[in-house]
Amino acid sequence: MVEKSATSRVEKLYAVKGMNDILPPDSSQWEWFEEQVRSQMTRHAYRNIRTPIVEPTALFVRGTGETTDIVEKEMYAFEDKLNGEALTMRPENTPGVVRAAIEHNLTYDGGKRLYYMGPMFRHERPQRGRYRQFYQLGAEALGFAGPEVDAELMLLAHQLLSDLGLRGVRVELNSLGVASERHAHRVALIEFFQKHIDVLDEDAKRRLHANPLRILDTKNPTMQKMVQDAPQLLDFLGEASLKHFDTVKTLLSACGVKWNVNPRLVRGLDYYSHTVFEFVTDELGAQGTLCGGGRYDGLFELLGGKPTPAVGWGMGIERVLELLKVQGHSNIVSSPDAYAIIPETAGLHTAMQCLQVLRSEGISVQMHAGTPDGMGSIKSQFKRADASGARFALIFGPDEIAQGVVAVKSLRDGSGAQLTQDLSQPAQWAKSLQSLA
Ligand code: ATP
Ligand code: MG
Repeated sequence: MVEKSATSRVEKLYAVKGMNDILPPDSSQWEWFEEQVRSQMTRHAYRNIRTPIVEPTALFVRGTGETTDIVEKEMYAFEDKLNGEALTMRPENTPGVVRAAIEHNLTYDGGKRLYYMGPMFRHERPQRGRYRQFYQLGAEALGFAGPEVDAELMLLAHQLLSDLGLRGVRVELNSLGVASERHAHRVALIEFFQKHIDVLDEDAKRRLHANPLRILDTKNPTMQKMVQDAPQLLDFLGEASLKHFDTVKTLLSACGVKWNVNPRLVRGLDYYSHTVFEFVTDELGAQGTLCGGGRYDGLFELLGGKPTPAVGWGMGIERVLELLKVQGHSNIVSSPDAYAIIPETAGLHTAMQCLQVLRSEGISVQMHAGTPDGMGSIKSQFKRADASGARFALIFGPDEIAQGVVAVKSLRDGSGAQLTQDLSQPAQWAKSLQSLA
Protein backbone atom coordinates (compact mmCIF):
# COMPACT_ATOMS: atom_id res chain seq x y z
CA MET A 1 0.00 0.00 0.00
CA VAL A 2 1.18 3.49 -0.82
CA GLU A 3 0.44 5.98 1.96
CA LYS A 4 -1.05 9.19 0.68
CA SER A 5 -0.48 12.39 2.62
CA ALA A 6 -3.11 15.10 2.62
CA THR A 7 -0.99 17.38 0.45
CA SER A 8 0.77 15.13 -2.08
CA ARG A 9 -1.07 12.85 -4.46
CA VAL A 10 0.39 9.72 -5.92
CA GLU A 11 1.37 10.31 -9.54
CA LYS A 12 -0.95 8.74 -12.11
CA LEU A 13 0.46 6.33 -14.65
CA TYR A 14 -0.53 6.18 -18.30
CA ALA A 15 -0.37 3.65 -21.11
CA VAL A 16 2.72 3.82 -23.30
CA LYS A 17 2.29 6.19 -26.25
CA GLY A 18 0.80 4.42 -29.27
CA MET A 19 -0.41 1.51 -27.14
CA ASN A 20 -4.13 1.45 -26.46
CA ASP A 21 -6.53 0.06 -23.92
CA ILE A 22 -9.44 -1.69 -25.54
CA LEU A 23 -12.41 -1.08 -23.27
CA PRO A 24 -16.06 -2.06 -23.19
CA PRO A 25 -18.17 -1.48 -25.20
CA ASP A 26 -15.51 -1.42 -28.00
CA SER A 27 -14.15 -4.75 -26.76
CA SER A 28 -17.47 -6.37 -27.74
CA GLN A 29 -16.72 -5.40 -31.32
CA TRP A 30 -13.31 -7.06 -30.98
CA GLU A 31 -14.82 -10.26 -29.57
CA TRP A 32 -17.40 -10.31 -32.33
CA PHE A 33 -14.64 -9.89 -34.92
CA GLU A 34 -12.60 -12.71 -33.33
CA GLU A 35 -15.62 -15.02 -33.44
CA GLN A 36 -16.18 -14.22 -37.12
CA VAL A 37 -12.52 -14.99 -37.78
CA ARG A 38 -12.61 -18.34 -35.96
CA SER A 39 -15.70 -19.38 -37.81
CA GLN A 40 -14.28 -18.31 -41.18
CA MET A 41 -10.95 -20.05 -40.52
CA THR A 42 -12.71 -23.25 -39.48
CA ARG A 43 -14.78 -23.18 -42.67
CA HIS A 44 -11.55 -22.89 -44.68
CA ALA A 45 -9.83 -25.63 -42.60
CA TYR A 46 -7.14 -23.28 -41.24
CA ARG A 47 -6.00 -24.13 -37.71
CA ASN A 48 -4.83 -21.88 -34.94
CA ILE A 49 -1.15 -21.43 -34.02
CA ARG A 50 0.07 -19.44 -30.99
CA THR A 51 3.71 -18.48 -30.84
CA PRO A 52 5.53 -16.32 -28.25
CA ILE A 53 5.38 -12.53 -28.38
CA VAL A 54 9.10 -12.32 -27.66
CA GLU A 55 11.52 -13.98 -30.07
CA PRO A 56 15.29 -13.89 -30.63
CA THR A 57 16.18 -10.61 -32.38
CA ALA A 58 18.03 -12.60 -35.06
CA LEU A 59 14.73 -14.11 -36.20
CA PHE A 60 13.50 -10.74 -37.45
CA VAL A 61 16.87 -9.50 -38.68
CA ARG A 62 16.96 -12.54 -40.95
CA GLY A 63 13.27 -13.27 -41.41
CA THR A 64 11.87 -9.75 -41.80
CA GLY A 65 15.03 -8.47 -43.44
CA GLU A 66 17.86 -6.16 -42.42
CA THR A 67 16.98 -3.51 -45.00
CA THR A 68 13.30 -3.20 -44.08
CA ASP A 69 11.81 -0.25 -42.17
CA ILE A 70 10.80 -2.68 -39.46
CA VAL A 71 14.31 -3.89 -38.71
CA GLU A 72 16.05 -0.60 -39.46
CA LYS A 73 13.97 1.54 -37.15
CA GLU A 74 10.77 0.06 -35.74
CA MET A 75 11.73 -2.84 -33.49
CA TYR A 76 11.31 -3.04 -29.75
CA ALA A 77 14.61 -4.87 -29.31
CA PHE A 78 16.21 -5.29 -25.91
CA GLU A 79 18.72 -7.28 -23.99
CA ASP A 80 17.41 -9.71 -21.39
CA LYS A 81 18.90 -8.28 -18.19
CA LEU A 82 19.28 -11.71 -16.66
CA ASN A 83 21.16 -13.57 -19.34
CA GLY A 84 22.11 -11.02 -21.99
CA GLU A 85 20.01 -12.64 -24.75
CA ALA A 86 19.08 -10.32 -27.63
CA LEU A 87 15.26 -10.35 -27.76
CA THR A 88 12.57 -8.51 -29.71
CA MET A 89 8.84 -7.99 -29.24
CA ARG A 90 7.49 -9.43 -32.48
CA PRO A 91 6.79 -6.73 -35.11
CA GLU A 92 5.08 -9.34 -37.30
CA ASN A 93 4.39 -13.04 -36.94
CA THR A 94 5.37 -14.76 -40.18
CA PRO A 95 8.97 -15.34 -39.00
CA GLY A 96 7.67 -16.75 -35.68
CA VAL A 97 5.31 -19.14 -37.45
CA VAL A 98 8.07 -20.34 -39.78
CA ARG A 99 10.49 -20.74 -36.87
CA ALA A 100 7.90 -22.86 -35.04
CA ALA A 101 7.19 -24.91 -38.17
CA ILE A 102 10.90 -25.68 -38.57
CA GLU A 103 11.42 -26.32 -34.85
CA HIS A 104 8.52 -28.80 -34.66
CA ASN A 105 8.89 -30.16 -38.19
CA LEU A 106 5.26 -29.21 -38.80
CA THR A 107 5.23 -29.98 -42.51
CA TYR A 108 6.70 -33.51 -42.20
CA ASP A 109 3.41 -35.10 -43.32
CA GLY A 110 2.26 -32.48 -45.80
CA GLY A 111 1.20 -28.87 -45.97
CA LYS A 112 -0.29 -27.01 -43.03
CA ARG A 113 -2.82 -24.20 -43.07
CA LEU A 114 -2.49 -21.95 -40.03
CA TYR A 115 -3.85 -18.70 -38.63
CA TYR A 116 -3.08 -16.47 -35.65
CA MET A 117 -4.38 -13.32 -34.00
CA GLY A 118 -2.43 -11.20 -31.57
CA PRO A 119 -0.49 -8.06 -30.73
CA MET A 120 2.51 -6.86 -32.77
CA PHE A 121 4.91 -4.07 -31.81
CA ARG A 122 6.48 -1.42 -34.01
CA HIS A 123 8.00 1.85 -32.93
CA GLU A 124 6.23 4.05 -35.48
CA ARG A 125 4.75 7.53 -35.30
CA PRO A 126 1.30 6.93 -33.80
CA GLN A 127 -1.66 8.19 -35.85
CA ARG A 128 -5.07 6.94 -36.91
CA GLY A 129 -4.64 3.35 -38.08
CA ARG A 130 -0.98 3.25 -37.01
CA TYR A 131 -0.04 2.29 -33.47
CA ARG A 132 2.97 0.96 -31.59
CA GLN A 133 1.07 -2.01 -30.27
CA PHE A 134 -1.45 -3.15 -32.85
CA TYR A 135 -3.22 -6.40 -33.58
CA GLN A 136 -2.83 -8.58 -36.59
CA LEU A 137 -4.78 -11.48 -37.91
CA GLY A 138 -2.61 -13.65 -40.11
CA ALA A 139 -3.06 -16.75 -42.24
CA GLU A 140 -0.16 -18.83 -43.51
CA ALA A 141 -0.22 -21.90 -45.78
CA LEU A 142 3.04 -23.83 -45.40
CA GLY A 143 4.26 -26.51 -47.78
CA PHE A 144 2.04 -25.73 -50.77
CA ALA A 145 3.68 -24.69 -54.03
CA GLY A 146 0.65 -24.42 -56.32
CA PRO A 147 -1.05 -21.16 -57.29
CA GLU A 148 -4.44 -22.45 -56.11
CA VAL A 149 -3.35 -21.93 -52.51
CA ASP A 150 -2.36 -18.31 -53.25
CA ALA A 151 -5.89 -17.90 -54.61
CA GLU A 152 -7.46 -19.74 -51.66
CA LEU A 153 -5.73 -17.43 -49.18
CA MET A 154 -6.84 -14.33 -51.03
CA LEU A 155 -10.39 -15.66 -51.27
CA LEU A 156 -10.29 -16.32 -47.54
CA ALA A 157 -9.37 -12.72 -46.77
CA HIS A 158 -11.96 -11.51 -49.26
CA GLN A 159 -14.74 -13.66 -47.82
CA LEU A 160 -13.90 -12.62 -44.28
CA LEU A 161 -14.07 -8.92 -45.14
CA SER A 162 -17.27 -9.25 -47.14
CA ASP A 163 -18.98 -11.46 -44.55
CA LEU A 164 -18.16 -8.78 -41.97
CA GLY A 165 -20.23 -6.47 -44.15
CA LEU A 166 -17.41 -4.33 -45.58
CA ARG A 167 -17.77 -2.80 -49.01
CA GLY A 168 -15.42 -1.14 -51.48
CA VAL A 169 -12.24 -3.01 -50.58
CA ARG A 170 -9.95 -3.28 -53.60
CA VAL A 171 -7.71 -6.24 -54.29
CA GLU A 172 -4.33 -5.37 -55.81
CA LEU A 173 -1.83 -7.96 -56.87
CA ASN A 174 1.44 -8.43 -58.63
CA SER A 175 3.96 -11.16 -59.29
CA LEU A 176 7.59 -11.06 -58.24
CA GLY A 177 8.51 -14.16 -60.25
CA VAL A 178 11.56 -16.11 -59.12
CA ALA A 179 15.07 -15.08 -58.07
CA SER A 180 16.69 -15.16 -61.52
CA GLU A 181 13.91 -13.02 -63.01
CA ARG A 182 14.15 -10.55 -60.17
CA HIS A 183 17.91 -10.43 -60.64
CA ALA A 184 17.60 -9.47 -64.30
CA HIS A 185 15.03 -6.84 -63.36
CA ARG A 186 17.23 -5.55 -60.57
CA VAL A 187 20.15 -4.95 -62.92
CA ALA A 188 17.84 -2.98 -65.25
CA LEU A 189 16.38 -1.12 -62.29
CA ILE A 190 19.71 0.00 -60.86
CA GLU A 191 20.76 1.15 -64.30
CA PHE A 192 17.52 3.15 -64.61
CA PHE A 193 17.85 4.75 -61.17
CA GLN A 194 21.47 5.67 -61.86
CA LYS A 195 20.24 7.65 -64.84
CA HIS A 196 17.91 9.56 -62.48
CA ILE A 197 20.30 9.87 -59.56
CA ASP A 198 19.53 13.60 -59.21
CA VAL A 199 15.90 12.82 -58.27
CA LEU A 200 16.73 10.15 -55.67
CA ASP A 201 16.40 11.10 -52.02
CA GLU A 202 18.86 10.01 -49.34
CA ASP A 203 16.86 6.89 -48.46
CA ALA A 204 16.70 5.83 -52.08
CA LYS A 205 20.43 6.40 -52.63
CA ARG A 206 21.16 4.24 -49.64
CA ARG A 207 18.87 1.51 -50.99
CA LEU A 208 20.07 1.77 -54.58
CA HIS A 209 22.29 -1.28 -54.27
CA ALA A 210 21.00 -2.84 -51.03
CA ASN A 211 17.33 -2.97 -52.01
CA PRO A 212 16.38 -1.07 -55.19
CA LEU A 213 12.90 -2.66 -55.36
CA ARG A 214 11.99 -0.74 -52.23
CA ILE A 215 12.56 2.53 -54.08
CA LEU A 216 9.50 1.68 -56.21
CA ASP A 217 7.51 1.75 -52.99
CA THR A 218 8.57 5.33 -52.20
CA LYS A 219 6.17 7.70 -50.48
CA ASN A 220 8.23 10.73 -51.61
CA PRO A 221 6.04 12.66 -54.10
CA THR A 222 9.00 14.16 -55.98
CA MET A 223 10.24 10.66 -56.81
CA GLN A 224 6.91 9.10 -57.69
CA LYS A 225 6.73 10.36 -61.27
CA MET A 226 10.19 9.04 -62.09
CA VAL A 227 9.38 5.72 -60.46
CA GLN A 228 6.38 5.26 -62.75
CA ASP A 229 8.66 4.92 -65.78
CA ALA A 230 11.00 2.42 -64.12
CA PRO A 231 11.38 -1.03 -65.70
CA GLN A 232 8.61 -3.35 -64.56
CA LEU A 233 9.32 -6.72 -63.06
CA LEU A 234 6.32 -8.18 -64.92
CA ASP A 235 8.22 -7.69 -68.18
CA PHE A 236 11.01 -9.93 -66.88
CA LEU A 237 8.85 -12.93 -65.92
CA GLY A 238 9.36 -16.25 -67.70
CA GLU A 239 6.73 -18.71 -68.81
CA ALA A 240 6.38 -20.65 -65.56
CA SER A 241 6.01 -17.50 -63.45
CA LEU A 242 3.47 -16.03 -65.85
CA LYS A 243 1.49 -19.26 -65.69
CA HIS A 244 1.47 -19.21 -61.87
CA PHE A 245 0.29 -15.60 -61.93
CA ASP A 246 -2.39 -16.27 -64.58
CA THR A 247 -3.81 -19.17 -62.61
CA VAL A 248 -4.16 -17.02 -59.49
CA LYS A 249 -5.93 -14.28 -61.46
CA THR A 250 -8.20 -16.73 -63.27
CA LEU A 251 -9.24 -18.48 -60.07
CA LEU A 252 -10.00 -15.16 -58.36
CA SER A 253 -12.15 -14.05 -61.28
CA ALA A 254 -13.92 -17.41 -61.43
CA CYS A 255 -14.84 -16.95 -57.76
CA GLY A 256 -16.20 -13.48 -58.34
CA VAL A 257 -13.31 -11.45 -56.91
CA LYS A 258 -12.30 -8.38 -58.87
CA TRP A 259 -8.60 -7.55 -58.87
CA ASN A 260 -6.14 -5.03 -60.25
CA VAL A 261 -2.56 -5.68 -61.22
CA ASN A 262 -0.38 -3.09 -59.52
CA PRO A 263 3.15 -3.32 -60.92
CA ARG A 264 4.45 -1.11 -58.13
CA LEU A 265 3.35 -3.57 -55.46
CA VAL A 266 6.63 -5.09 -54.31
CA ARG A 267 8.30 -6.70 -51.37
CA GLY A 268 11.96 -5.90 -51.50
CA LEU A 269 13.19 -9.14 -50.02
CA ASP A 270 14.69 -12.08 -51.77
CA TYR A 271 12.66 -14.74 -50.07
CA TYR A 272 9.46 -13.44 -51.65
CA SER A 273 8.41 -14.96 -54.95
CA HIS A 274 5.44 -15.03 -57.27
CA THR A 275 2.23 -13.59 -55.85
CA VAL A 276 2.10 -10.44 -53.71
CA PHE A 277 -1.14 -8.69 -52.87
CA GLU A 278 -2.88 -6.05 -50.80
CA PHE A 279 -6.48 -5.36 -49.81
CA VAL A 280 -6.96 -1.60 -49.85
CA THR A 281 -9.69 0.90 -48.96
CA ASP A 282 -9.91 4.60 -49.80
CA GLU A 283 -12.00 5.31 -46.71
CA LEU A 284 -9.22 5.33 -44.09
CA GLY A 285 -6.95 8.05 -45.44
CA ALA A 286 -3.25 7.23 -45.64
CA GLN A 287 -3.60 4.03 -43.60
CA GLY A 288 -5.75 2.30 -46.21
CA THR A 289 -3.99 -1.05 -46.47
CA LEU A 290 -6.07 -3.56 -44.55
CA CYS A 291 -4.20 -6.67 -45.50
CA GLY A 292 -0.89 -7.46 -47.15
CA GLY A 293 0.66 -10.74 -48.12
CA GLY A 294 2.39 -12.92 -50.61
CA ARG A 295 4.35 -16.03 -51.36
CA TYR A 296 7.60 -16.46 -49.47
CA ASP A 297 9.10 -19.66 -50.83
CA GLY A 298 12.63 -18.80 -49.66
CA LEU A 299 11.97 -18.05 -45.99
CA PHE A 300 12.25 -21.56 -44.57
CA GLU A 301 15.78 -21.95 -45.91
CA LEU A 302 16.77 -18.51 -44.70
CA LEU A 303 15.77 -19.55 -41.18
CA GLY A 304 17.66 -22.84 -41.34
CA GLY A 305 14.84 -25.12 -42.50
CA LYS A 306 14.41 -27.37 -45.52
CA PRO A 307 13.19 -25.66 -48.68
CA THR A 308 9.43 -25.32 -48.18
CA PRO A 309 7.06 -23.24 -50.29
CA ALA A 310 4.76 -20.97 -48.31
CA VAL A 311 2.28 -18.14 -48.75
CA GLY A 312 0.41 -15.94 -46.28
CA TRP A 313 -1.01 -12.58 -45.32
CA GLY A 314 -1.33 -10.26 -42.34
CA MET A 315 -4.36 -8.06 -41.65
CA GLY A 316 -4.49 -5.02 -39.35
CA ILE A 317 -7.41 -5.58 -36.99
CA GLU A 318 -7.69 -1.93 -35.85
CA ARG A 319 -8.00 -0.84 -39.47
CA VAL A 320 -10.70 -3.41 -40.21
CA LEU A 321 -12.67 -2.35 -37.11
CA GLU A 322 -12.22 1.31 -38.02
CA LEU A 323 -13.57 0.66 -41.51
CA LEU A 324 -16.55 -1.17 -39.99
CA LYS A 325 -17.20 1.95 -37.92
CA VAL A 326 -16.84 4.28 -40.92
CA GLN A 327 -19.29 2.10 -42.87
CA GLY A 328 -21.78 2.07 -40.00
CA HIS A 329 -21.38 -1.50 -38.78
CA SER A 330 -20.18 -0.82 -35.25
CA ASN A 331 -23.36 -1.48 -33.35
CA ILE A 332 -22.33 -4.75 -31.76
CA VAL A 333 -23.44 -4.56 -28.15
CA SER A 334 -23.04 -7.20 -25.56
CA SER A 335 -25.74 -6.99 -22.91
CA PRO A 336 -26.70 -9.65 -20.40
CA ASP A 337 -29.98 -11.50 -20.90
CA ALA A 338 -31.12 -10.74 -17.38
CA TYR A 339 -30.47 -8.45 -14.44
CA ALA A 340 -31.01 -9.90 -10.96
CA ILE A 341 -32.79 -7.54 -8.58
CA ILE A 342 -32.26 -8.52 -4.97
CA PRO A 343 -34.02 -6.09 -2.62
CA GLU A 344 -32.68 -7.54 0.65
CA THR A 345 -29.37 -9.10 1.64
CA ALA A 346 -31.36 -11.96 3.20
CA GLY A 347 -32.35 -12.98 -0.34
CA LEU A 348 -28.75 -13.22 -1.59
CA HIS A 349 -28.11 -16.89 -1.02
CA THR A 350 -31.36 -18.02 -2.66
CA ALA A 351 -30.80 -15.64 -5.55
CA MET A 352 -27.18 -16.60 -6.11
CA GLN A 353 -27.98 -20.33 -6.05
CA CYS A 354 -30.63 -19.75 -8.70
CA LEU A 355 -28.26 -17.63 -10.83
CA GLN A 356 -25.65 -20.38 -10.82
CA VAL A 357 -28.12 -22.79 -12.36
CA LEU A 358 -29.33 -20.26 -14.93
CA ARG A 359 -25.74 -19.52 -15.98
CA SER A 360 -24.90 -23.17 -16.42
CA GLU A 361 -28.00 -23.37 -18.62
CA GLY A 362 -26.49 -20.63 -20.80
CA ILE A 363 -28.37 -17.55 -19.57
CA SER A 364 -26.20 -14.47 -18.97
CA VAL A 365 -27.16 -12.66 -15.81
CA GLN A 366 -25.76 -9.53 -14.21
CA MET A 367 -26.35 -9.56 -10.45
CA HIS A 368 -27.13 -6.36 -8.62
CA ALA A 369 -24.27 -5.50 -6.26
CA GLY A 370 -24.95 -3.53 -3.09
CA THR A 371 -22.79 -1.87 -0.46
CA PRO A 372 -21.75 -3.11 2.99
CA ASP A 373 -24.92 -1.39 4.26
CA GLY A 374 -27.37 -3.21 2.05
CA MET A 375 -28.61 -3.78 -1.48
CA GLY A 376 -30.02 -0.30 -2.19
CA SER A 377 -33.56 0.76 -3.11
CA ILE A 378 -35.60 -1.18 -5.64
CA LYS A 379 -35.83 1.96 -7.72
CA SER A 380 -32.06 2.30 -7.96
CA GLN A 381 -31.78 -1.41 -8.75
CA PHE A 382 -34.23 -1.03 -11.65
CA LYS A 383 -32.21 1.94 -12.90
CA ARG A 384 -29.11 -0.24 -13.03
CA ALA A 385 -31.09 -3.02 -14.69
CA ASP A 386 -32.17 -0.59 -17.37
CA ALA A 387 -28.63 0.70 -17.91
CA SER A 388 -27.28 -2.84 -18.21
CA GLY A 389 -29.23 -3.40 -21.41
CA ALA A 390 -30.70 -6.63 -20.03
CA ARG A 391 -33.91 -7.77 -21.68
CA PHE A 392 -35.59 -8.71 -18.43
CA ALA A 393 -35.25 -8.46 -14.67
CA LEU A 394 -35.33 -11.36 -12.26
CA ILE A 395 -36.78 -10.13 -8.99
CA PHE A 396 -35.81 -12.01 -5.85
CA GLY A 397 -38.04 -10.09 -3.39
CA PRO A 398 -38.89 -11.37 0.10
CA ASP A 399 -42.50 -12.08 -0.93
CA GLU A 400 -41.44 -14.02 -4.00
CA ILE A 401 -38.86 -16.02 -2.04
CA ALA A 402 -41.46 -16.81 0.66
CA GLN A 403 -43.72 -18.22 -2.07
CA GLY A 404 -40.85 -20.19 -3.63
CA VAL A 405 -40.85 -18.17 -6.86
CA VAL A 406 -38.88 -15.54 -8.76
CA ALA A 407 -40.60 -12.80 -10.74
CA VAL A 408 -39.51 -12.34 -14.35
CA LYS A 409 -40.25 -8.86 -15.70
CA SER A 410 -39.76 -7.73 -19.25
CA LEU A 411 -37.68 -4.53 -19.51
CA ARG A 412 -37.58 -3.80 -23.21
CA ASP A 413 -40.94 -4.43 -24.82
CA GLY A 414 -42.72 -1.65 -22.94
CA SER A 415 -45.38 -4.05 -21.68
CA GLY A 416 -43.74 -4.51 -18.30
CA ALA A 417 -45.26 -7.98 -18.43
CA GLN A 418 -44.39 -10.07 -15.43
CA LEU A 419 -44.63 -13.77 -14.70
CA THR A 420 -43.32 -16.01 -11.96
CA GLN A 421 -41.18 -19.12 -12.10
CA ASP A 422 -40.46 -21.90 -9.63
CA LEU A 423 -37.33 -21.09 -7.60
CA SER A 424 -36.59 -24.72 -6.87
CA GLN A 425 -36.45 -25.79 -10.55
CA PRO A 426 -34.58 -23.08 -12.50
CA ALA A 427 -33.13 -25.59 -14.99
CA GLN A 428 -36.65 -26.37 -16.18
CA TRP A 429 -37.53 -22.82 -17.21
CA ALA A 430 -34.08 -21.40 -17.99
CA LYS A 431 -34.37 -22.15 -21.71
CA SER A 432 -37.72 -20.41 -21.98
CA LEU A 433 -35.99 -17.16 -20.88
CA GLN A 434 -34.00 -17.09 -24.10
CA SER A 435 -37.13 -16.61 -26.16
CA LEU A 436 -38.37 -13.75 -23.97
CA ALA A 437 -38.30 -10.34 -25.59
P1 ATP B 1 2.24 0.15 -43.93
O1 ATP B 1 2.73 0.38 -45.33
O2 ATP B 1 0.85 0.70 -43.68
O3 ATP B 1 3.24 0.55 -42.89
P2 ATP B 1 3.21 -2.54 -43.73
O4 ATP B 1 3.64 -2.91 -45.10
O5 ATP B 1 4.23 -2.13 -42.75
O6 ATP B 1 2.05 -1.43 -43.79
P3 ATP B 1 2.57 -5.27 -43.04
O7 ATP B 1 3.87 -5.50 -42.36
O8 ATP B 1 2.33 -5.89 -44.37
O9 ATP B 1 2.30 -3.69 -43.14
O10 ATP B 1 1.36 -5.64 -42.03
C1 ATP B 1 0.10 -6.10 -42.46
C2 ATP B 1 -1.00 -5.18 -42.03
O11 ATP B 1 -0.90 -4.85 -40.65
C3 ATP B 1 -1.02 -3.83 -42.72
O12 ATP B 1 -1.63 -3.93 -43.97
C4 ATP B 1 -1.84 -3.00 -41.75
O13 ATP B 1 -3.22 -3.24 -41.94
C5 ATP B 1 -1.42 -3.54 -40.42
N1 ATP B 1 -0.40 -2.69 -39.78
C6 ATP B 1 0.93 -2.62 -40.06
N2 ATP B 1 1.53 -1.75 -39.24
C7 ATP B 1 0.57 -1.26 -38.41
C8 ATP B 1 0.57 -0.34 -37.31
N3 ATP B 1 1.68 0.25 -36.90
N4 ATP B 1 -0.61 -0.06 -36.70
C9 ATP B 1 -1.76 -0.66 -37.10
N5 ATP B 1 -1.81 -1.55 -38.11
C10 ATP B 1 -0.67 -1.85 -38.76
MG1 MG C 1 4.97 -0.28 -42.02
